[in-house]
Amino acid sequence: MKFNEIKNMVNESSNIVFFGGAGTSTESGIPDFRSADGLYNAGTDEVYTPEDILSRDFFMERTEEFYKFYRSKMIYPEARPNPAHEALVKLEQRGQLRAIITQNIDGLHQVAGSINVLELHGSVQRNRCMGCHTIYPLASIVESCVQVPICQRCGEIIKPDVVLYQESLDMDLLESAADYIKQADVLIVAGTSLTVQPAAGLIRLYEGRKFLLINKSATPMDGLANYIIPESIAKVLDALTAE
Ligand code: ZN
Repeated sequence: MKFNEIKNMVNESSNIVFFGGAGTSTESGIPDFRSADGLYNAGTDEVYTPEDILSRDFFMERTEEFYKFYRSKMIYPEARPNPAHEALVKLEQRGQLRAIITQNIDGLHQVAGSINVLELHGSVQRNRCMGCHTIYPLASIVESCVQVPICQRCGEIIKPDVVLYQESLDMDLLESAADYIKQADVLIVAGTSLTVQPAAGLIRLYEGRKFLLINKSATPMDGLANYIIPESIAKVLDALTAE
């Protein structure tokens, strides 16, 4: 199928659902931490994998070391939305895009101006006091003069509103994501390896025949896609939504 035919398919739809992963943000300069290997010295003589550090237990027991890693590897306050984020804003404003479902925690879809964004793994832009549940923006984590940010109201620790290992996903959000995908006319999946749950399971719920996969490398679900474009997500989405 030629690119123009895919473009027509997208332009004619008023029920597009976008499912994105880390690849959506790499062109904003945010690396995919899942593809980063190696061990990290979290401030002691012991070394840990990112999975060890980004776990609930580690956060609770070694909060200061958690924050040291989190600040250096997980937050990118200077990152700006790229043309992929902007193209999705355009589609939503035209009334064509029903929902963005993302595995990313950077919050760049909302920074770009998207409204209906389902963040399966939470967002670094929201941070919650573990005592009184007051919400703090990313800036209060970045600007905190102590390693572990503390609530100004009650003095408890502030925790990023991201889903850590050992924590469960928000079931209402998952259900809502499942409904959007089941009911979608066009499903666009981009920048995700589709190897981890819930991504793979969610994508299998799509029943249509307009599944467009934009990914530079092969995924285990390529066989399910109706169209595959192995190029830059920003470039492809920008071209698909161009006037
Ligand atoms: Zn508090």
